[in-house]
This record gives sequence, C-alpha cells and structure tokens, in this order.
Amino acid sequence: MPPRSSSGTCLLCKTTVGRIAMPRHSQDCLKKSDWPEPGGLSYIIRVEGFHTKMFWLLVLARQDAELSDLDRLLRDVWVECCEHLSTFTIHGERFFSYKDNDFDDGEGEFGFSIRLDEVIGPGTVFTYEYDFGSTTKLKLSVIGISPVAPKIAPLCLIARNNRPEIPCYFCKEKGEYLVTNRSDSPYMIAICRDCTKKKVDDMEPEYVTVIPNSPRAGVCGYMEEPITAIRWYPKGWHLGDIYPAESEEALAEIMNCDEDDE
Ligand SMILES: [Zn+2]
Ligand SMILES: [Zn+2]
Ligand SMILES: [Zn+2]
Repeated sequence: MPPRSSSGTCLLCKTTVGRIAMPRHSQDCLKKSDWPEPGGLSYIIRVEGFHTKMFWLLVLARQDAELSDLDRLLRDVWVECCEHLSTFTIHGERFFSYKDNDFDDGEGEFGFSIRLDEVIGPGTVFTYEYDFGSTTKLKLSVIGISPVAPKIAPLCLIARNNRPEIPCYFCKEKGEYLVTNRSDSPYMIAICRDCTKKKVDDMEPEYVTVIPNSPRAGVCGYMEEPITAIRWYPKGWHLGDIYPAESEEALAEIMNCDEDDE
C-alpha cells in the first residue's frame, strides 16, 4: 500500500518539510521572502485528494483572485486531461465552470468569475470536482492568511508533495511507471524499469506512463503536464526539477525496442 501522506518541498527555499509542518514553515518562509506586502491579506489554501493525503499543494492566493484562477491552477498542475467540466462546492452553494455569472438562471448556481473573498475566508473548507463522469474530487482548506502576496499572478504554488514512492508490483523495488488498464476491470499498478523491460510484450504503450504526481493518476488517460504546472511555480524552478524526463525517455526507448524486434 502507498503511504497515506507524504512529505513535500517548500517551493520558496526548496527544503523538504513534512505535510503537517509545512504550513508553519511556509508562513516563515514567506516573511523572509522578497515578495510584496500590498496591504491586504492573502489566503494560504491547502489542496489535497479527497480520499488520499498522498497528494497535496499549498497555494498562496490574493483575496481578489477568482474561482476561475483557482480552477486554472488545479487543472494546470493536477487534473486537466480533456477539458471536462468542474465545480466548487462552498457552504452548500455550487459554482460551475460553464455558468455565466452575468446571467441568473434562477437555479441558485453560479459561475467561476467571483472573487475568493466573496465566498471563502479563514477556516473555510470546500471541495472541487473535475469531470462529472470519472470524477477527481479534491478537498480545499483555508489554513492561514499572510500579509505577503504572490509576486506576479493572483495566486501561486508555495509547496507541493514530493513525487510518490510506490513499490513495483512485481519486485517491490522503486516503481517508476504506472500501468493502467481501462477495460471493464480497471486497475493500476506501479512497475520498475527492469520489470517494464521484462514484461514489455504484455503492455500497450498508451497505458504506461511515468507515475504522475497527481490525484488524477490513471484516470481517463491523464498525463502529467509539467509545462503547464510550472506556470504556477515561483521563479527559479525548471522543468527538470519537477518532472523526471529521463524516465519518460527511457520508457519510449523500451517501447520502441519492442517494435524494432518485430
Ligand atoms: Zn521554505
Ligand atoms: Zn478526460
Ligand atoms: Zn520491478
């Protein structure tokens, strides 16, 4: 079984910190940063899988950031596969990605162009769902406030769980790839590089990926997209820091070797 929760990295100072200790660490790190203090307060929002604490993020959001901004961040970092619909549920009210706030349909449902400080505050716990078919559900909690604001965009990632370490299903060594089978009996297993080579004849390339650092791993052909994720990182991060491109290259090589043999 994978661990229930995991340590992560402070994206300001690049230190590894436990999930529980991270909020306090982030507060201190923000104070020491050269980020602006524009006068208002920003929210520190923890985002985690609804059913697993293995994946989590800390987001710093200005009060005037909108739900649409938060939706964009969650899609770019964690969930986007094929532009499914999404919804936030806050204090029993529902906000939908496809609703227009300028048009009241009388159903008491709202769109995403609404400021965060109109719907959340310190202590608010709310949920996000992406894709109403194979849903990925997330839990969000406003766990703190800070006088420090994100440097450029209205919101920014400030901490993220480290990539999950899941043992290989076959040999228990460190798993590197995720194998899914989207037939009638869906399953997911982690597999190491050596076992991938041994079992390459049994695998279909489109069902094998680098293990995604996302709670949507294995759902609806989800692929991790480091290029969109890094938009939300503070300055000083590079793609190679957040995604093991070498693993992906090795996988392509293993799969191609198979074709050459035929
Ligand atoms: Zn730090
Ligand atoms: Zn999809
Ligand atoms: Zn193995």
